[in-house]
Amino acid sequence: MKRLIALTTGLVAAALTQASAAKLNVVTTSTMVTDMVKSVGGDRVSVVGLMGPGVDPHLYKPASGDVVKLQRAKVIFYSGLMLEGRMADLFFRMARSGKKVYAVTESIPESDRLEPPEFEGHWDPHVWGDPTLWSKCISTVVEGLSAGDPAGREYFAKRGAAVVKSYKDVHQWALKRISAVPKAQRVLVTSHDAFNYFGKAFGFQVVAVQGLSTVTEAGLADIAKTVDFIKGKKLKAIFVESSVNPAAIERVSKDAGVKIGGELFSDACGKPGELHEGNGEKYDVGTFVGMVKHNINTIVDALK
Ligand SMILES: [Zn+2]
Repeated sequence: MKRLIALTTGLVAAALTQASAAKLNVVTTSTMVTDMVKSVGGDRVSVVGLMGPGVDPHLYKPASGDVVKLQRAKVIFYSGLMLEGRMADLFFRMARSGKKVYAVTESIPESDRLEPPEFEGHWDPHVWGDPTLWSKCISTVVEGLSAGDPAGREYFAKRGAAVVKSYKDVHQWALKRISAVPKAQRVLVTSHDAFNYFGKAFGFQVVAVQGLSTVTEAGLADIAKTVDFIKGKKLKAIFVESSVNPAAIERVSKDAGVKIGGELFSDACGKPGELHEGNGEKYDVGTFVGMVKHNINTIVDALK
């Protein structure tokens, strides 16, 4: 019996190795990109995400192990618009050496991109704040995966269409949920400017203590300005972000006498498989859809 189990386990292991060997080897950067590529790629793709939950993509420096993973990959997807500021050179070099490298945001039309004045001459990279706009990145993923695995083209296109629908559905769900928040309270105060697209999509005024990228830290003047603003608006709550140091927001909360309404996922999803409950349903915060649900429920419950 023991031998039989060992034999079966051996066979299963061999089958698994064979299956994963046949899969398209893909490397991704941020958790939102990783989830998107996994959702579109399904069983034909083996995805390694370089950045985990809680990791700040603005500050992420590739480790030597990452370079090896990238070199072994058949296809690479990153977010782009300078989100991964410290990896841009590496991607450029990889693309030049003939590697299939895609910035998923390249399929976002320029007319849909935001260019906030404080980020002089650069696009705002936080596109996933608007789920419908983020769904436009899926066509790049379908194209990139099909280039690496041409036999899977139809499979990727079909799955991609389903993922687009799920992003648009969660967008509609969010609009409905937000109607519970009085218009005067539709103001989102957070650590850094990750929510411009979110604000535009969902009708929120967005105020960040820190600038657009987390590379610069909030100064005392930024904190004082935010405190005045919150008092003037009589806001009920402000929010910390999972991938950004909460110190500045905690200071603002204390000085303005306003509560912290919860933690939002801004530049990274949560832990895959971790279920949160809100508005009477459970969702996996390690997925993009679960991330949106968590953020919307947290914001609505704190401001309504
Ligand atoms: Zn950011």
